[in-house]
Amino acid sequence: MDILSLSFDELSSAFAENSIQGFRAKQVYEWLHRHLAVSYDEMTNLPKALRAELAEKFPINTCKPERVQTASDSTVKFLYSLSDGEFIESVLMKYKYGYTVCVSSQVGCKMGCRFCASALGGYKRSLTAGEILSQVYAAQRHAGERISHIVLMGMGEPMDNFENVMKFISLVTDENGINLSMRNISLSTCGVLPGIERLMDKRLQLTLSISLHAPNDAIRNAIMPVNRKYPVDELLALCRRYAETTSRRISFEYSMMSGVNDSDECARELASKLRGMLCHVNLIPINEVAESPFRPSSQERIKSFSAILSASGISTTVRRKLGSDIDASCGQLRLKSIRERGNSDASRS
Ligand code: SAH
Repeated sequence: MDILSLSFDELSSAFAENSIQGFRAKQVYEWLHRHLAVSYDEMTNLPKALRAELAEKFPINTCKPERVQTASDSTVKFLYSLSDGEFIESVLMKYKYGYTVCVSSQVGCKMGCRFCASALGGYKRSLTAGEILSQVYAAQRHAGERISHIVLMGMGEPMDNFENVMKFISLVTDENGINLSMRNISLSTCGVLPGIERLMDKRLQLTLSISLHAPNDAIRNAIMPVNRKYPVDELLALCRRYAETTSRRISFEYSMMSGVNDSDECARELASKLRGMLCHVNLIPINEVAESPFRPSSQERIKSFSAILSASGISTTVRRKLGSDIDASCGQLRLKSIRERGNSDASRS
């Protein structure tokens, strides 16, 4: 049983079934979600015998830091191992308004975007709500300060792990836990329409982020296989509905790849398709991944692209690149570790 994934009510019933007194559930929940305990030994107000019983029946599956890299701009990248030996990554960023942690929702990813390192490492499995949560808690323990913002922009496709991601969101916003504001959560998807619809029905106040990266099917099909199933115009139509239904501004991510999606013509096409939508566009120079042929657009290209969007009245920013000296983009560190493990396995045999 993955105790970090349990809501307070679920934890209480699990304890009741094991004839553990009711008030213990409250204590343990507090230790886990307020004091961010990673072991029962920290729970000093529980009798020793109970701690041993709990450790046996309800192991705490937190992610274990394997590597922690700090970049010159103080962005921290974590590589964690999970209880089954898989690796995941998260990134901690410090902004003027506080700490943001970027968490993974799956080990690897099935979506296969051509420019993304997560796809290269292969898909293994979805994370439990507790495994997603423990990335936030580990980052907060490391920072020694409250995490105020969460972005689901690490490895994996959140819409491909919908239930666990929703459970994670309810735990992280629980007022008896770390009580993060729903408005400070961003969920990013490559455009899985049924997932966006399900999310829309929940009317959450979080920010929906769409990894768009291209204004039309010709370009998007070539870099994002998901577009063949869910074409870009259908995606944008649903985004329009989403924004109207939730009154929340959609955030479009657009990674600028030289000669691929960065022409003025692309900018004009994008502007015409987004006109009148409650949205914001984030332009990001792509991070180079050794195995991928894509190169970042020049500063002049990005400026020109951004000027066209802004002139059409579309709110646009060029995102500052953080942590690029520590492989801080999606899946890069896991890939490196898989390779290193592969090499050492090879040298042993
Ligand atoms: N699967 C979700 C969540 C991952 S978010 C999604 O696609 O939205 C990670 C973001 O980084 C996505 O916008 C993704 O398209 C982008 N990304 C992936 N590889 C990148 C790279 N090499 N450079 C810049 N952005 C990249």
